[in-house]
Amino acid sequence: MVDLKGQYARIKSEIDRAVLECIESTAFINGPQVHKFQKDLEQYLGVRHVIPCANGTDALQIALMALNLNEGDEVIVPSFTYVATAEVIALLKLKPVMVEVDEHTFNITAEIIESAITPRTKAVVPVHLFGQSCDMEPIMAVAKRHGISVVEDNAQAIGSDYGSADGTTRKAGTIGHIGTTSFFPSKNLGCYGDGGAIFTNDDELAAKMRMIANHGQAKKYYHSVIGVNSRLDSIQAAILGVKLQYLDEYCSARRSVADKYDAAFSNIDELQTPARELNSTHVFHQYTLRVGDGNRNGLQEHLNARNVPSMIYYPVPLYKQEAFAAAVPDGFSLPVTEKLCNEVISLPIHTEMAAETQEHIIRSVKEFFSGRSQTAQ
Ligand SMILES: *Cc1c(COP(=O)(O)O)cnc(C)c1O
Repeated sequence: MVDLKGQYARIKSEIDRAVLECIESTAFINGPQVHKFQKDLEQYLGVRHVIPCANGTDALQIALMALNLNEGDEVIVPSFTYVATAEVIALLKLKPVMVEVDEHTFNITAEIIESAITPRTKAVVPVHLFGQSCDMEPIMAVAKRHGISVVEDNAQAIGSDYGSADGTTRKAGTIGHIGTTSFFPSKNLGCYGDGGAIFTNDDELAAKMRMIANHGQAKKYYHSVIGVNSRLDSIQAAILGVKLQYLDEYCSARRSVADKYDAAFSNIDELQTPARELNSTHVFHQYTLRVGDGNRNGLQEHLNARNVPSMIYYPVPLYKQEAFAAAVPDGFSLPVTEKLCNEVISLPIHTEMAAETQEHIIRSVKEFFSGRSQTAQ
């Protein structure tokens, strides 16, 4: 699905130098690389505070811990997302309220959120799924009206630009009260292990989250709140410092792969190419098609037989996961989410896609559908 070796090969000398420097300095924890990367990312995102941490799941957990929520408070979360988004809500003894997503963009909307708000709702976690920002301005308006906090799960859309009605552009993840991301190796900005970060423009929240991520201490050995130990290590920060310089290039490489897929598949009736959010650029963490008429699994088998990797993100709605049984009423079901889980398939997309590799993928997909229409005739 991704080519991390090819990507490393292109920047090997820079990465090797940065990692070696870090090892030779032995400043493995909180070395200067961490602070430098934090500052570089703040500048790239145009956000006041970046708080590096150990992974994207911790980032979400620390964000929620900073919001002064109480047991049983409701947090709205899409049902069509990676488990981490809802997992931390349940872990903190909050109530995940799983909602539908838009059938075309795979993202939640202000309308969906507003219809799920109750007097117990305290926060919402919009997920910028597959690489484009949810329509954040209407979401922020709903949140303001109801006095709820917004934590953007930006693990899949770092680098994406969100355009506001007034013509200004902001980076995905910097619009809500807090944004989070993951530097898991296959993410758009991936390190060579685990890593994550939290963003905010709120000085008070930033200080609190920094403290929570560091054992609840602002001053060494003086612990004001129960926190966690969640750090980005210096070697990962050094790697990310190099890769951040290439992020825009990586995003446009992914976009041109997506454009080629779009053009190749536009006239296959049984396929729906990914819809674009009106106000966001797409950085294509995933290129996700929808396959109608119950043909999704058939297409995947066909691709497997031709050595074309593909993945189903996500095969099971969160509310059907055993882990959330206690959090969800019996028989709970959301029709769009169910439909998407049965229809989606993601094709390889990455920064190193060779033209002939993509042609083989495209040919294999087309073959499946032309074979089908022939047998139907
Ligand atoms: C990857 C991902 C996470 C979690 O990131 P980790 O670094 O693996 O903990 C959370 N949310 C979404 C949407 C993700 O894709």
